[in-house]
Amino acid sequence: MQKFVELGLSKPIISALQDAGYTEPTAIQDQAIALILAGNNILASAQTGSGKTAAFALPIIECLQEPGTKPRALVLVPTRELAVQVSTQFKLFAKNMGLRTVTLYGGVGMDQQLRALRGKVDIIVATPGRLNDCLERRAVDLGAVELLVLDEADRLMDLGFMPQVRRIVSKVNKDRQTLMFSATIDDKITRIANEFSEKPIIIKVHAERVDSIAIEQKFMHVTEFNKDALLLKLLGDFASEAVLVFTRTKRKAGWVSDRLQDASVVAEEIHGDLSQSQRERTLKKFRSGQVTVLVATDVAARGLDIPTISHVVNYDLPDTPEDYVHRIGRTGRAGKTGTAISFISEEQRHLVRDIEKVVGFQLETGGAPIRKAAPARRFRRSGRR
Ligand code: ADP
Ligand code: MG
Repeated sequence: MQKFVELGLSKPIISALQDAGYTEPTAIQDQAIALILAGNNILASAQTGSGKTAAFALPIIECLQEPGTKPRALVLVPTRELAVQVSTQFKLFAKNMGLRTVTLYGGVGMDQQLRALRGKVDIIVATPGRLNDCLERRAVDLGAVELLVLDEADRLMDLGFMPQVRRIVSKVNKDRQTLMFSATIDDKITRIANEFSEKPIIIKVHAERVDSIAIEQKFMHVTEFNKDALLLKLLGDFASEAVLVFTRTKRKAGWVSDRLQDASVVAEEIHGDLSQSQRERTLKKFRSGQVTVLVATDVAARGLDIPTISHVVNYDLPDTPEDYVHRIGRTGRAGKTGTAISFISEEQRHLVRDIEKVVGFQLETGGAPIRKAAPARRFRRSGRR
C-alpha cells in the first residue's frame, strides 16, 4: 500500500484500493500516476491487462477530490461494454469520495442518462456516439472538463471514430489535461495524437516482445471446412472456465455459436447486430460463468476485463495486427497466464505477415491433426437456469 501512498494518493482512495485487493501499483500505474498528478499530458502504451484503467482513474479521482456540479473529467472509450466496465472501476475507486460518475452509451434509452446529466456530475465515461447525441440535445456541458482521457486511444483515432471524437474534443477547454492510453500506439498514432495534445509525455511499458510470458500464442493451419471440428476438439481439451472465440463477421459469430450449441457447448454470441440488452445479458452470463464460450466479433476485442478467460481462439484472423494484440489480450491479465490459438486458413494467409511484425516472431506452421472428440463435461449444456 505504501507505494500507492508515495505516488500521491490520499486516504479515501488508498482505503478503496485496499478493499479492492490492490496492494501495489503495476508498472504503468507506477509511472503514470505521479506524472498525471503533476499536471502533464501523457500518451501511454502498456500491455493489455496491465492496469491502465487505474493508471488514469486514480489520479483523476485524486485531482477532483470534492464533488462539484459540472463534469470535470471525461473519459472516452470505443465500446458500450467498455464504458460500463470503466465507469464501474471509477465508482469503485471513488466510493469514499462522494464523486458522481455518469455513463453514456448507445443502444439503450436516453431517458435515464439524460436524467443523470440533469443532476450533479463529476465524471463522465462515454462512447463518442451517445455523447454527441447528448451534446446535440444540449443535455451536457463540457465547458468545465479539466481532464480528458482517450482510452484505447488508437481505436478512437481511427477513421470511424475520429470525426465524432473531434467534435467532442472541440467542446472541451483547450487548457485541459489530456491522457491517452492503449496497448498499441505506433508512430502514426503518436503523430495524430498531437492534434489532441501538444507534445505529451510518452510512456511505454512493454515486455521486450508482445509474446510476453503471460500469453502463450499458438497457430494452426486449417481449412475453412475443418475450423468447426478443430474448435470443438480444442474446447474439449481446454476444460476451461471461459473461452472467447473471435470471428470476422457478425453472421459468422452467430453461425459458430449455433454449431457449438448443437454440439452441447454452452456458447453464446456477442456482436453489433444484437440489441444492447441482449449484449449485456450475454456478457453478464459469461462473466459469471453461466456461459463458458463466448463467440464474438471485434466488438469484444478491446478493453474487456474478464479474469476467468483462460483461452482466446481466433477462429478467423483479425483484419489488423492491432486487433490481434487486443483480442489475445483478453486473456493473461493482471499477472495471470493465458493461451491464444489462431486458426490460419489459406484465405487469410496474407494477414500473417503483419501479425508477425507485431508479435515479433514467425508464426508456427503446421497444426494439430483433428481427432473426433466429445466436448469435455464442463462445456456441456448444464440445463436451463
Ligand atoms: P488494461 O486496461 O491495461 O488492459 P485493466 O485496467 O483492465 O487493464 O486491468 C486489468 C486487471 O488488473 C483488472 O482486473 C484490474 O482490476 C486489475 N488490476 C489493475 N491494477 C491492479 C493492481 N495494482 N493490483 C491488483 N490488480 C490490479
Ligand atoms: Mg484498458
